[in-house]
Amino acid sequence: MELSGLLGERFGCDCGREHCVPVRQFLYESGALERIPEVIHGLPEIGAIEGVALIADARTWDVCGEKVCEVLRQAALPVTPILVADQAHGGPVCDDSTARDVRDRIRAAGVNVVVTVGSGVINDLCKWSSFELGLPYLVVATAASMNGYAAANVAAKIDGVKVLVEARPPVAVLAEPDIIADAPSEMTTAGFGDTIAKYQSNTDWLLNHRLLEEYYCDFCAGIVAGLESLYLDRPEDIAEKKPRAVGGLFEALFWSGIAMTVVGTSAPASGGEHLLSHTLDMVSDVRDRPHDLHGRQVGIGTIVSAALYDRILALESPALKDMPHDIEACYWASPPLIEAVRAQYAAKQVSVDVVTQRLAEKGVWDELRAALATVSRRPDTIRNWLLRAGGAVGPADIGCDRSDLKAAMLHMHEMRRRFTVVDLAWMAGVLPGAADDIIDQWLTT
Ligand SMILES: [Zn+2]
Ligand SMILES: [Zn+2]
Repeated sequence: MELSGLLGERFGCDCGREHCVPVRQFLYESGALERIPEVIHGLPEIGAIEGVALIADARTWDVCGEKVCEVLRQAALPVTPILVADQAHGGPVCDDSTARDVRDRIRAAGVNVVVTVGSGVINDLCKWSSFELGLPYLVVATAASMNGYAAANVAAKIDGVKVLVEARPPVAVLAEPDIIADAPSEMTTAGFGDTIAKYQSNTDWLLNHRLLEEYYCDFCAGIVAGLESLYLDRPEDIAEKKPRAVGGLFEALFWSGIAMTVVGTSAPASGGEHLLSHTLDMVSDVRDRPHDLHGRQVGIGTIVSAALYDRILALESPALKDMPHDIEACYWASPPLIEAVRAQYAAKQVSVDVVTQRLAEKGVWDELRAALATVSRRPDTIRNWLLRAGGAVGPADIGCDRSDLKAAMLHMHEMRRRFTVVDLAWMAGVLPGAADDIIDQWLTT
């Protein structure tokens, strides 16, 4: 089935559930910007157009925000540009106070449609604000940098702690291929890292399905399979910004976001590999230091997850050990963060107990091992894809040193309640011992 036929549709799936794709339009074509007024006029959820809020930051305004503003004005649509201010260390952040500010400014503009121009943070701020105001929003993408365009969730920081906020995806995602291909290379390689993460996140999803009875959908797990040859047959095409590869990557990022929306959790696109990136982000924030882009860190996390599975699945019969009793509070440094991480870690214990019981049953390990081995990729495969695409493969590439990376590897299992390869690695005795070897073998540049 052509994926585009699913836009805005409801359909029955082999997994037994009915799926709904809430995004109605996906335009990745030359001239997409000129079609924004037509998309707005076709929105069934609004009657008369009272006005359009146009959200951008300083960079995305220059990339094409100004052009979008012009297109809207030429179509006689009343538009209020809202520029989100930069933070001291760089671009805007998606936190509660910035979102409140954006929301107040949209409300004050008296509009009933929101258009956002940008990628990660700007898209998230707009998604969050529009949802709270009950307004439809369109996103004009500026980079193939992450898979959040079509996702319902917002990666936000509330009171200093990173959380996922439930919101609603945009009604339309539009992009000009030239703009996406010309985006800074780090952004495209970040998107590449976020996309190839799915091999490892799918392995974790299957692990949770097999041992903890988590819902699993084959269709959602494999949603981008038909697009992968465009950017994985020759990953150099990503480094060389070849339109076909970048277009394939952008489309894969879009549909990977749809898979998360359809399933209602981040399971189809986020597992243990993502924990490395979340941990590096949180710890950098607490220490008031910059960190690299989500997807570039996720790419390295994907090598780590592949290397952990490689070692775990090699075990004929793992002798399970107890997980560390508590988190190492001093690593997380700030009291609210320690409290949040500790609550997540404590909540995981239920899953750890079930996994312990299940793996003690005869035959379970052999079956699990065989199933996971068909999905997980080898660490050299992941590293090779990232290297050829020009992505980050070691700590120096993401601005941290070996000890920061190792510390993150040894604490990332503490921060989320969901069971992943990282927990299994601790239980099987692969961690903490393998951290140095994995860095030496796979993460040294
Ligand atoms: Zn399904
Ligand atoms: Zn991601």
